[in-house]
Amino acid sequence: MAIERTLSILKPDATRRNLTGKINAKFEEAGLRIVAQKRLHLSEAQAGAFYAEHKARPFYKDLVSFMTSGPVVAQVLEGEGAIARNREIMGASNPASAAAGTIRKEFAESIEANCGHGSDGTEAAAREVSFFFAGTEIVG
Ligand code: ADP
Ligand code: MG
Repeated sequence: MAIERTLSILKPDATRRNLTGKINAKFEEAGLRIVAQKRLHLSEAQAGAFYAEHKARPFYKDLVSFMTSGPVVAQVLEGEGAIARNREIMGASNPASAAAGTIRKEFAESIEANCGHGSDGTEAAAREVSFFFAGTEIVG
């Protein structure tokens, strides 16, 4: 499998509960490398644009409001099959259905406040990485 890069976001529920180190440990233990990372407070415009694909969904407005409710940590994770691997480590969107040992099973509060975002494919990963990071900010 190829070495890939994917965009990860530690959401406001994770920063609020001081869980960024515990979550990063899960990525690193699973062999992913954090090759870029920054903490920022998203504006409504940024969160709305990032989640534009969900604009028609009933949870969109709440999601934008949640994602701007506190700081987030945006990261680029690198490794073998990093895109799918990150989503495996995070677990299902709804913590009630997430597998044991996953980030969302261990830490998520709800289907909305579910600790993390992970790109869902190669096209999304490229677009989402460049949404947050310049090439010079990614150091593998
Ligand atoms: P994932 O983050 O697992 O890729 P989606 O892309 O389907 O999940 O949804 C994006 C985010 O929107 C989720 O991570 C979660 O924060 C929120 N979300 C998804 N489904 C719901 C829902 N039914 N109710 C409230 N929030 C939701
Ligand atoms: Mg998604």
